[in-house]
Order: sequence, then C-alpha cells, then structure tokens
Amino acid sequence: MNIGTHGGACGHACCLRIQDLSVKIGAQTIITGINLHVHCGEMVALIGPNGAGKSTLLKSILGQQTYDGVISFSVPGERNRKAKIGYVPQSPTFDPGDPVTVADLFACCMSKRPAFLGQSPAMRQKIRECLGRVYSEGLIDKRVGTLSGGELQRVLLALALEPLPNILILDEPLSGVDVEGMENLMDMLDEIRKTYDLSILMTTHDFSMLSRYADQVVLLDHKQVCQGTPIEVLGSEEFRRVFHRKGGYL
Ligand code: ADP
Ligand code: MG
Repeated sequence: MNIGTHGGACGHACCLRIQDLSVKIGAQTIITGINLHVHCGEMVALIGPNGAGKSTLLKSILGQQTYDGVISFSVPGERNRKAKIGYVPQSPTFDPGDPVTVADLFACCMSKRPAFLGQSPAMRQKIRECLGRVYSEGLIDKRVGTLSGGELQRVLLALALEPLPNILILDEPLSGVDVEGMENLMDMLDEIRKTYDLSILMTTHDFSMLSRYADQVVLLDHKQVCQGTPIEVLGSEEFRRVFHRKGGYL
C-alpha cells in the first residue's frame, strides 16, 4: 500500500521532493525505493523499528550521506533554489560537569569570537530573541549539561531555527522528554511550522502524538512500507505486521 496524500500535484507551494532514493553502505542496502513529497507548512512523521533507516534518510536529505536517486527542493517562480535546513540530531548528550552555557553554545554557532571572551550585549540580545522563539529566554545562562530533556530539545530547536530554515529536520525529538514535555514540544512545533510556514520532518517512536499533529506518516522498514494520514498508517495491516501488533495501534 502507498497512499500518497498529494498524488504528485504541486505548483501552489514550495516543496521537498524525494524520488526513488536508495542508500547503500558497503555491500548493504540500508534503504531503497523512497518517494516522498513534503509541502511547506506540513509536518511529516517518519516511523519504523530501530535500524529501519530513518536517520539514514534524514542524513541523505542533509547531504551527510551519499545516495542514489533525486532529492530536490522547489519554490514556484524560483529556479535552482537551495533549501535552508535546520537540524536537531538524535540524542545529543552533554556532560553535566561541562561549563558550557546555553549562551556559549549559541555564540559558538553564531559568531567567530572565542566563547571564553563572553558575549557582547548585542549578541546576548540576539540569543534572547532566538530563545524567545521557543519561549525559553530564561535558559540563557544555564549549563547545557544540566538541562532536562525537554529544555535541551527546546534550546536545540531554537538553534536550528537560526537562521529560519525552509525545512526543519528533527531526529527523535521526543525521546528523553516526559509526557507533559512532549505535548509542550509538539504544540510548539505546530505553532512554529504555521508561523514560519516551514516543513517539519521528524522521526518518532511515540505514536500517540501522530493523529493530533502529523499531516502525513511514512512507515519505513528499509523500504517505504506505507504512507498516508496518521489514521491510515496506524490502522494499516502493514503497521501491524512491522510492529507485530495484533490489534494495530488504533
Ligand atoms: P534508524 O534511525 O531507523 O534506527 P539508522 O538509519 O540509524 O536506523 O540505521 C539503519 C541501518 O543502517 C542500521 O542497520 C545501521 O546499523 C546501519 N548503518 C547506519 N549508518 C551506518 C554506517 N555508517 N555504517 C554501517 N552501517 C550503518
Ligand atoms: Mg535513528
């Protein structure tokens, strides 16, 4: 089954298009036959068992992994436009004893000035504005290694939103975040994609969030097993087979 939601028709919005993508590492085919079409403002969730190739697909889009096939981004009326991509990797960890603060982290990414010199007032103001996008100005002087899972995701999200991207790629942003934090984070992502009209492509193992927030769900298990609305995918025979669930998720 392959229930594409857009049927290939496009022309009214910018979009990310993936055609016949496959990735081989050594002799092993990691993913094959991936076809995906994501419009600006859409939230697409990639699901699949561990080792299914979700992160590999995201790395291909990011240009960190060689692949066969075509990945293109288009904006109507603009030729050869390159997509700006914001990325939060899977499970980044920071040592609680590490003295690096949130402000230091932003300053390292946004300016050439060595972090130990501190930040200029203008830079601190810019960092506050970035953190304000995720309602986290209060975290500016916290040590990164002491943040909770939800706080860390918000800080990394703020970092990925500067400069504002066309596509935001999040690899398992909900892992390590408690249930309340998950809802907060998903509400925030929902608001961000609407406010800035950007696409969000995220991987997750938390299926409870999908019906409420995702426009499309893609089930991956080395190949694209099925794709559709959350209800279509979570209720599908393919979902039951891949996750060995007798009754499906719904
Ligand atoms: P997922 O994110 O769905 O858990 P990954 O994309 O991380 O899966 O990995 C898919 C498969 O590709 C796994 O079997 C993994 O071991 C393999 N793989 C990923 N990266 C490499 C690599 N650099 N070298 C060899 N195998 C890799
Ligand atoms: Mg992964």
